[in-house]
Amino acid sequence: MGIIKLIIIVFFVWAGFWLLKKFRKPVDHIEQKSSTNKMLACSICKVHVPENEAVIQDDKVFCSKQCLR
Ligand SMILES: [Zn+2]
Repeated sequence: MGIIKLIIIVFFVWAGFWLLKKFRKPVDHIEQKSSTNKMLACSICKVHVPENEAVIQDDKVFCSKQCLR
C-alpha cells in the first residue's frame, strides 16, 4: 500500500510541474510580443506603424520615407 501511495504522489507532483510548464509558455510569448511590437503614430498622416518599421528623424516619427519628404 505504501508504494502505491508514493507512486500516486509522484504522479501528481509530475503532473503539477507539467501543467505549470504548459501554462507558463503562452504568458512568456505574449509578454515578448507586446514588448517588441510597439506602435508609433506617424506625425504626418497619423498612421500607426511598428517601431522597427518606423522612420525616426529629429525626434519625429514617420511611417515611411514618403512622409519624411
Ligand atoms: Zn505617414
